[in-house]
Amino acid sequence: MSIQAINPVNGKVIKTYKADTEQAVTRKVEQTHKAWLSWRETTFAQRAGMLKKLAENLRSRKDELAALMAKEMGKPLKDGVAEIEKCASVCDYYAENGAAFLADKPIKTDASKSYASFQPIGVVLAIMPWNFPFWQVFRFLAPGLMAGNCGLLKHASNVPGCALVIEDLVKTSGFPPHVFQTLMIGSKAVQNVIAHPLVKAVTLTGSTEAGIKVAQQAGSLIKKTVLELGGNDPYIVLADADLEKAAQACASSRLINNGQSCVAAKRFILVKSIEKEFTRLFKEKMMQKKTGDPFETGIDLGPMARADLRDELHEQVLSNIKAGAKCILGGTIPAVKGNHAFYTPTILTGVKKGMPAYSEEIFGPVALIISARDTEQAISIANDTSFGLGAAVFTQDGSLGEEIARTQLQAGCCFVNSLVKSDPRLPFGGVNQSGYGRELSEFGIHEFVNIKTVYVG
Ligand code: NDP
Repeated sequence: MSIQAINPVNGKVIKTYKADTEQAVTRKVEQTHKAWLSWRETTFAQRAGMLKKLAENLRSRKDELAALMAKEMGKPLKDGVAEIEKCASVCDYYAENGAAFLADKPIKTDASKSYASFQPIGVVLAIMPWNFPFWQVFRFLAPGLMAGNCGLLKHASNVPGCALVIEDLVKTSGFPPHVFQTLMIGSKAVQNVIAHPLVKAVTLTGSTEAGIKVAQQAGSLIKKTVLELGGNDPYIVLADADLEKAAQACASSRLINNGQSCVAAKRFILVKSIEKEFTRLFKEKMMQKKTGDPFETGIDLGPMARADLRDELHEQVLSNIKAGAKCILGGTIPAVKGNHAFYTPTILTGVKKGMPAYSEEIFGPVALIISARDTEQAISIANDTSFGLGAAVFTQDGSLGEEIARTQLQAGCCFVNSLVKSDPRLPFGGVNQSGYGRELSEFGIHEFVNIKTVYVG
């Protein structure tokens, strides 16, 4: 079996990789476990030193790494560079804060001494997607290594070059051999890895369907999972919002990574009185984004990551138009030569309950406008979803916005007057079908450790 990297600009094969055999996978699991037996004995200072070196390495290779993403999944170069810088920042963050997060936590009891101690658990399998081929991996990898765990990566099949270069970056930053390895396998071969007794836990970022399958199997083996799945993120615009700023943030959020982000804004829920003016401003901002070859300067959006994903997206748009939504921008596959994956930024208005887009995740540059009678109805529409990853509310009444974000929106990351974004310092994750567990911050580093009670009588 082989794994192919295909350029989404023209459909041409970039490189074909030989998949790992079952024996090779087993060997890698065993090697990584063996590496862990020594890695868990290293000090926080040693781990932090290597993470700092990894951050340096990322920064010094950022142009090369951004070019690789541009080729394999169509990300414009400037966005690729920003992604690599963010990966370096998460390495620095855990290098600087990991020891404090993992220090023993004294707890007063009737013992002479009792405390919680955060011990490494072993080899963690990461199943990762293609949309942020480096960031998704590093937000698992940096806290994992700092906590004394080792990692195996099963990356998305369309970014094999990124997967291998991450392994190389770790290796060349002074980490001991095999503490982190890439498995060159398709999704069908993942079952055996989860089942291997030396694999202790699994983290997955991707679709809800993949999350269900992986969690089912891991659950049957009592292996912990963290799942970061899809979303249908609502952005509410209230009657008193600064419409110019809100429209700018909403367009930027919808088009982050060409709409292929779990926390991209997806549903725009507008209070009736501002619907017309907001829609005008929003359309203007969406139209300003320039689509083209990700290697060209001045480009905001490249192609989507794969032609099949673009085709599915277009089908979703057509089915919603058929169901009564109105397309006021885009809705077409651009007439560019070759077997490309480009899609035009699109706005559908008049989206209502019962239309597919009301409840499905739309993973691409397509915005849905839903109108609400008032604030109360807007919140109720926002929560009328099986997902719960990000959500935002725009209003000039700061305390009302905060109250809505804090207590009323049912999602893991709720922002006021800002687009939703991940930050190494803040916990990141969802509720309901968007998954469970948290990445990043102090919470993220505690997901894959044995929170051990030590009691000295
Ligand atoms: P998938 O969820 O299928 O892929 C994500 C990762 O999971 C990949 O590494 C994939 O491997 C792996 N995978 C898929 N199925 C299984 C399985 N049964 N067992 C183990 N691993 C599995 O996403 P797609 O690439 O197919 O994209 C489809 C949709 O998923 C998108 O349109 C979007 O809605 C959602 N998605 C959400 C993301 C997020 O950030 N939350 C990121 C990417 C996609 P392989 O590539 O080999 O199939």
